[in-house]
Amino acid sequence: RIKRSSHNNFCFFTPEMQSHSARRLQLSNALYFGLTRGEFLLHYQPQISLQDGHMVGVEALIRWQHPEFGAVAPSEFIPIAEDSGQILAIGEWVLRTAVTQMKAWLDAGMKPMVMSVNLSTVQFRHPDLLALVMQTLQMAGLPAQYLELELTEAMAMDNPTAAIALMNQLHEQGVRLSIDDFGTGYSSLSYLKKFKVSKLKIDQSFVRDIGDDKDDRAIVTAVINLASSLGMQTIAEGVETPGQLAFLRLQGCDEAQGYYFSKPLPVDQLEAFAKTMTAVP
Ligand code: C2E
Ligand code: MG
Ligand code: MG
Ligand code: MG
Repeated sequence: RIKRSSHNNFCFFTPEMQSHSARRLQLSNALYFGLTRGEFLLHYQPQISLQDGHMVGVEALIRWQHPEFGAVAPSEFIPIAEDSGQILAIGEWVLRTAVTQMKAWLDAGMKPMVMSVNLSTVQFRHPDLLALVMQTLQMAGLPAQYLELELTEAMAMDNPTAAIALMNQLHEQGVRLSIDDFGTGYSSLSYLKKFKVSKLKIDQSFVRDIGDDKDDRAIVTAVINLASSLGMQTIAEGVETPGQLAFLRLQGCDEAQGYYFSKPLPVDQLEAFAKTMTAVP
């Protein structure tokens, strides 16, 4: 895009654009070494059942600590990794690490729960995804029912026919599926009923203002009812206050996830959290 400067001549990059693309390039190069240098790790955020208050799952969220750039947020580096194709190797590492961790937890006697893993559009479109998922589970020795893959509406709606076929195959193998950030994309209701999805994740943007925005309350209630009529469960994302929790519980939301319970935690802290959860029923 051409930008017109104040002197009425043209330049292709403003200094701001230049530093933005320079950072992208730097990060893209750094991503290449990130995996081999062990700069990535996963944090796990508890997912709490609103029926009994127990932890019923965790969501794996990637963290990148670069020696020079420091902590880089996934919202910044995932899109770069998607553009460069590096997301395939990173996504494979995430899947393997998460699945191996859950197997280790189960072996150590942790109460059975579900491991949720975010998928990228690029992974979802890749023809080897099903094989990769099944191979990863098999190598780790984890039964498929402990794994949930998070898709977005855009991923499912991009090519609904292909998406439905893949979802059916994953479902047949026992892998659970959920739709992340539900309500922010656009999915057609006539397709939604064909998606083999067990859970809708209500986006945090609707949860945030439950207290003082009646439209958001109406949307959250509608999503919970829609899910329930389609035989799907709901989990609310970004729950931070007791008021939000009370409303969600009243509306029949199944699960919640957010800072009110816990931020995403490194392995040892998640284990400590799990112990306190079982100590206080
Ligand atoms: P997401 O999957 O929707 O994850 C939820 C985000 O909300 C996470 O941000 C989480 O740390 C944050 N969060 C959780 N509870 C609260 C809360 O109570 N309040 C607020 N304000 N935020 C909360 P995070 O970890 O920065 O991840 C951002 C996004 O990056 C994720 O959104 C997901 O789309 C993507 N992402 C993270 N890890 C992976 C991964 O391993 N693979 C892929 N493909 N994408 C990932
Ligand atoms: Mg997610
Ligand atoms: Mg989300
Ligand atoms: Mg997301």
